[in-house]
Amino acid sequence: MLDRPVTTLRYVGPQKAARLQRLGIQTIGDLLFFFPRRYEDRRQLKELAAVRAGETVTVQATIKAWEEKELRPRLHLFRALIQGRQGAGYALWFNQPFIKRQLPPGVEVVLTGKVNYRQGPEIQVSDYEALGTGDTSLHTRRIVPFYPLTAGLTQRWLRLVIHLALEEVREKLPEILPLSLIQRYRLLPRSQALQYIHFPPDPGALHQARRRLKYEELLIWELGLHLNRRQRQQGRGGIAHTPDNSLVQRLIAALPFRLTGAQERVLAEILADMEAPRPMARLLQGDVGSGKTVVAAAAMAKAVAGGWQAALMAPTEILAEQHGRTLQRVLTPLKIPVAVLTGNTPRSGRETILAGLATGQLPLVVGTHALIQEGVNFKALGLVVIDEQHRFGVDQRAALLIKGVEPDLLVMTATPIPRTLALALYGDLDVSLLDELPPGRQPVTTLVLTDRQRAKAYQLIQREVRAGHQAYVICPLIDASESLAAEAAIGMAKRLQEEVFPAYPVGLVHGRLKASEKEEVMDSFRQGKIAILVATTVVEVGVDVPNATVMLIEGAERLGLAQLHQLRGRVGRGTAPAFCLLIAGNSQAARERLAVLVSSQDGFAIAEADLKFRGPGEFFGTRQHGLPEFRLATLPADARVLEQARQDARQICQEGLWQLSPYGELCQAAREKIAGLQF
Ligand code: ADP
Ligand code: MG
Repeated sequence: MLDRPVTTLRYVGPQKAARLQRLGIQTIGDLLFFFPRRYEDRRQLKELAAVRAGETVTVQATIKAWEEKELRPRLHLFRALIQGRQGAGYALWFNQPFIKRQLPPGVEVVLTGKVNYRQGPEIQVSDYEALGTGDTSLHTRRIVPFYPLTAGLTQRWLRLVIHLALEEVREKLPEILPLSLIQRYRLLPRSQALQYIHFPPDPGALHQARRRLKYEELLIWELGLHLNRRQRQQGRGGIAHTPDNSLVQRLIAALPFRLTGAQERVLAEILADMEAPRPMARLLQGDVGSGKTVVAAAAMAKAVAGGWQAALMAPTEILAEQHGRTLQRVLTPLKIPVAVLTGNTPRSGRETILAGLATGQLPLVVGTHALIQEGVNFKALGLVVIDEQHRFGVDQRAALLIKGVEPDLLVMTATPIPRTLALALYGDLDVSLLDELPPGRQPVTTLVLTDRQRAKAYQLIQREVRAGHQAYVICPLIDASESLAAEAAIGMAKRLQEEVFPAYPVGLVHGRLKASEKEEVMDSFRQGKIAILVATTVVEVGVDVPNATVMLIEGAERLGLAQLHQLRGRVGRGTAPAFCLLIAGNSQAARERLAVLVSSQDGFAIAEADLKFRGPGEFFGTRQHGLPEFRLATLPADARVLEQARQDARQICQEGLWQLSPYGELCQAAREKIAGLQF
């Protein structure tokens, strides 16, 4: 029924069908799930004698006579004298020659439009309907839907066609939700909800329709994620990693610090998951600096201990190199070699690494996208770790996974995804939360400064650098162009070196440098040879230089709060007090937003605030992939419904209900929804 092409409806020919297709509408189902963007309440009828200039009204009247005028070339006025029960006036149409024929004198009409006053009230008609034809009103005398349109389609036509579709489908539209859920949440039946969302009899009905369809939408999404996960877990069977943790213990014992309670907890979750015979799919969420890397290292050691290989993929070369160094530090003493593979690895080195991975002699590799290229083959890939996972597309994750046979998957993120969004996005991942920073960290003192207060910022940098610490100066992206940002950074570095800090070495890193050049600069900074590092946002993720104590960010209003928080997390990694200086324009809105950073150090709270300010699309920036698009639901506003849907989906899966017939169609819809998504 819902699969029938729209052309089977009256009034829909090939031309209109092509226009509908531009809106993504091909079938009757698509049409019915194409929801109004807004509504206008036209239930109140006014007497012509009572209308006032400037207001938009709906009136009922009789057409008495017509007159026609050419006001100027191509502007034809059609004016009808209309008589209401109380009062008379005029109704105006422009360039609609058919209107006179459609509404001849004597016809009773309902008109909606804006009122002007000349000799009497004049209504500039935006919608009209003739009465007495027995038709239901679609355009007046009701709450009227307005749709997002495309060229060549009108609201009138679309209302009519959707109305026809509803009429046809009405009784035959199958319910998709099981009765138990409908009763539990007192939801409208599906056909009624669809009827009401297009043509609500009153605001209450509209609310109920939206509530029902929103729940359906979120349940289908969550169910899709759960079914996906079931399928993966029941696939060819995952790897049961060795229960012997002695290697992991030795690694931990050799660390120069003790694990935090949170690190111990999440590591235990991960190790247990790895021992289980089904493939692990776990998200490790932790604020900047919470110490995710050693947790990953321990998990990788466990894989290696049982004779498997492990791979860690990071989004940038700087980060891959840094992880490589960290892992080498903790794993080399345990006689586990670690290789680093990036696009920048020289050919001979690359060949040695590829051979080592293929024969299994090389148990552990860290790298960038270079890892998912063709020619990279593993003998026995047992664990895949993905850092800053939101920087990768779903397909890229999958590309690394298929280099093994059902390897365990650990994805890590320092972007503190709000819980609401995490659930929506990763409903099929288990979540481990690192909610504790290593001891001794101090909150980063954050200040918002204007352009004119820059001197103050430089004084502070001067003081810190003189005390032997280091500083970052960030020039953010300008109009999303890394090349312009690089330009700005180059100018900034020159000015700082020559005019502001002639006595201290100023370094520069930006996206236009070659990877090896970047690495060289980062190395110098790490070793303290550079005191002040000017950078574009390339340092955003994961750079770990505990001696740096100042983070100055130019044009801070251009960046999202979550991203600023990430940048701020580059300092305050040691025990000395640290500072984050945000230089921003004077706009009230920007200052309000940045104030969140001044008052909070909690990445999750900041991310929630960011989400509220910017909405989910922008929150993740253009690099985010796989963000679901909902028709009705909006996050985080609908977080509660989402959570409910998640629980219901889980129950349906756990109890095997999905195999029962009332769930069949629901699950079919769920599978279609997430088809193509593979985590
Ligand atoms: P992130 O979670 O941001 O990736 P890292 O793994 O880079 O954090 O760790 C940040 C810093 O904290 C590193 O220098 C790391 O060595 C250090 N670190 C990690 N765990 C602890 C701990 N338990 N105690 C002290 N320092 C730690
Ligand atoms: Mg990290």
